[in-house]
Amino acid sequence: MTVLLDLRRVFLNENTVMRLRTDVAVSEAGADVAFEGETVAADIKVENRAGFVEFTADVSFICRFDCDRCASPVSRNFHFQFRHTLVPQLSEESGDDYIEAPDYKLDTDTLLRDDILLALPSKRLCKESCKGLCPKCGKNLNEGSCGCALQEADPRLAALKKLLEQE
Ligand SMILES: [Zn+2]
Ligand SMILES: [Zn+2]
Repeated sequence: MTVLLDLRRVFLNENTVMRLRTDVAVSEAGADVAFEGETVAADIKVENRAGFVEFTADVSFICRFDCDRCASPVSRNFHFQFRHTLVPQLSEESGDDYIEAPDYKLDTDTLLRDDILLALPSKRLCKESCKGLCPKCGKNLNEGSCGCALQEADPRLAALKKLLEQE
């Protein structure tokens, strides 16, 4: 169910501020990360500054994912602030940061869900210096080296070796 936030009062009155806390449904966001909980709390501020309606949202949440390199499960806190300028109708001059609020109504759920998914890093690592897994034996190299002769991990040699093993 889509809940629209009615911003008519802010749009029509300069120097008006509206604050609210809302829950963004993320459980079916389709991301390859798991959010802790079905929703993410967002602190929203909508402010009409001399006719420009600015939307600001602060979100904090915990996400679980597997490290892209070593596959270890990771749980991490994220905090983001999103800002948009709201307009009742998009025009050709409207930039990317402009969001349409037709009839002064805004679908905050969809807007913030998209914001959150875009803000999550596409490369997710347990730590920047993650050493990953040994391509040969699969040992997690963050826990120490495995002693494999790493030059054998050369893909051309590995393919050749595989070929010889088959014969
Ligand atoms: Zn890792
Ligand atoms: Zn190894």
